[in-house]
Formats: sequence, C-alpha cells, structure tokens
Amino acid sequence: MNGHVNRGHSVIVFAVLVGLGLVTLLGYYFGYVPYLEAGNVTTQKSTLLMDTVVDVRVDGRESDLLVEKVFATMDDLEGLLSRFVPDSEISEINRRAGQWVKVSPLTLEVIELGLEMGALTDGAFDITIGAVLELWGFGSGQYYVPTEAELEARLATVDYTKVEVDTARSQVRIPEGTVLDLGGIAKGFIVDQGIQILRDAKVKRAFVNAGGDISTIGRRPDNQPWRIGVQNPENPAEIRFILPLADRSVVTSGDYQRFFTYENERYHHIIDPRTGYPAREVTSVTIVGDNSATCDALSTAVFVLGWKEGRALIERVPNVEAIIVSSTDVWISSGLDQVVTR
Ligand code: AMP
Ligand code: MG
Repeated sequence: MNGHVNRGHSVIVFAVLVGLGLVTLLGYYFGYVPYLEAGNVTTQKSTLLMDTVVDVRVDGRESDLLVEKVFATMDDLEGLLSRFVPDSEISEINRRAGQWVKVSPLTLEVIELGLEMGALTDGAFDITIGAVLELWGFGSGQYYVPTEAELEARLATVDYTKVEVDTARSQVRIPEGTVLDLGGIAKGFIVDQGIQILRDAKVKRAFVNAGGDISTIGRRPDNQPWRIGVQNPENPAEIRFILPLADRSVVTSGDYQRFFTYENERYHHIIDPRTGYPAREVTSVTIVGDNSATCDALSTAVFVLGWKEGRALIERVPNVEAIIVSSTDVWISSGLDQVVTR
C-alpha cells in the first residue's frame, strides 16, 4: 500500500555510485551540493484511512517526516470523528444522546461547521442523518430497503437545528434517538487539517488526496496548476473532465462511490433528508473552493438538492464553482467553464 517516491534518497544513492568525494568537492567549489540540497526532496506515499486510499505528496525539506505527520494527524482525527470507531467522540455523543458530552475543540469545530452548512443549504446537508443511514445499512454493510413507515420514524430524529453546542464548555448535546454522522464533511475537514500542517511548515508544493477529496498547495514543479481528473459517473474507470487547481480544493460526490443494488435498483449513500431515500436527480457533483470541508459538505448538499436548486445554491455561495452531472446533462459553473478540459 505504501507507494513511495523519495527522489532525495535516489539522488543520494546515485551520488555515492559516481564517487561521493569528487561530487562533494565540486559541490563545495560551486557553493552547491546537489544531493544534500533538501529542497529537492519529494515524498509521495499512500495509506488506507477513512475507508479510502489517502495519497499525500510533499516537496521540500523533511518531506518524508511531514508526510508521516500528516498521516498521523489524519488517523487521530478519524479516531475522533468516525461514527464507526467505538471510542470516537462522535460515538460517545451518539451513545449518550440526550446528555451533554465534552468534546475536543476540533470535534466542536467540525460539528459547528456541519450545522452552518445545514443552515446554508436549508437542511439538504444534515449531520443528524445517522439513524436513516443505519436503517439502510450504510456503514454496517447490512443493506436493507426500508418501508415508508420505517423511514418516517427515523426521519423524525433528523433535524440539525436540535443539536446544541456549548462553545464555552466545549460540549455538545443531541436529542435522544438522534444519530450524528459526519460522513459528508469529516473527510474534507481532515484533509484541511493535513494541509494546515504543511502550510505551517511553510511547504510550497503539496497535495492531499483522500479518495477524491483533494487539497493542493502551490503548483506543479513546471509551474502549471495541478490537474485533477473527475470520474465519469456512468463509468468511474474513465476520466470525464480535467480541472486545473492551484492552492484550492476539489471534492466530488457521486452515486457510484457507495451503493448496493436490490431488484435492479441502485441505492446509494447520499440521502435526501426530506424523503429518507437516496437523492436521484443527479449522478455526480464536483465542487471547487477554498477548503475541502466546505467543498465536501456542498458536494453532498448539491447532490441532494439536484439540478435546479443545486445550481441556485452554487450561484448564491461566493468563491465556489461546480460541475453537476446527471444521466442526461452537464452543468459547469461560469468560473470553471473556460478552464475545464472535456
Ligand atoms: P459524500 O460522499 O461527501 O457526498 O458524503 C456522503 C456521506 O455523507 C454518506 O456516506 C453519509 O455518511 C453522509 N450523508 C448522506 N446523506 C447526507 C445528507 N443529506 N447530509 C449530510 N450527510 C449526509
Ligand atoms: Mg461530502
């Protein structure tokens, strides 16, 4: 799983082969020792986190240490935020529904952001959707097509406005029966935290790609923007669009990412909180914006809102662009239209 490119090391090995002494002397003579110049080191590694492949590339000094630090931070955050990690803070909030639960500042921050995104999207994005997801079996893998009555009962527990956040005491309370699920935002939030470590370390060039939640720092070595492929929802092995991206984030939500099939019908993981059923109007939504967490929540929300309301939301929110794909149509927002390769 650990694909590892570390040019710094290969340059060192090469230098040893051609004669370390001579190269060193010439290097000092010209005031430059190429194989000791840590600025040239690129580290790229992938690992499994958050149920997906996370690929991190960092250029510059101590890039190998920084990549490990990013992975470790992301791993810690998954341990705080996942509904499927029994001792996570989210699991604790869910277990003790009805009571105040103390949480760490980052958990509080992502919950608050989730609630803001709920308000911004008029509840299309709702982090209290957990009980409905459980009923469908998303997470446990015990898939099941529920009855209307079962859905209705679970939908009664879905309402982000009922989540209470006490910032001063760093505690959270949800109503009894409600289940928090940060699956639509946590990955993006965690990618942002990884990128923050790299920015703090003054890294000039890097990316973090968590299964399609991508954030970038700077540009490619040839000074061109990074190029990001967007999958074709009809055939995910195929790239349908290529986006240029520099110092920004891109996140895609698609109906092909997590689903089961029952009696020839596909049931996927993005649930419309108004009905309890998977949202059906579009097949993929790609959002470009300033950070991954917002893009992540917006991609889920626009997917739920569908063709018309989804577009209206994108046009209303500043500094975000989108590509919306349905089985019959494509919409590309004005800021992307000129730069997307189709
Ligand atoms: P994404 O892949 O970012 O679109 O997020 C999908 C995940 O978000 C699902 O696996 C659920 O964990 C969660 N989710 C599903 N529907 C919603 C919704 N309407 N609002 C917020 N989160 C949702
Ligand atoms: Mg999302």
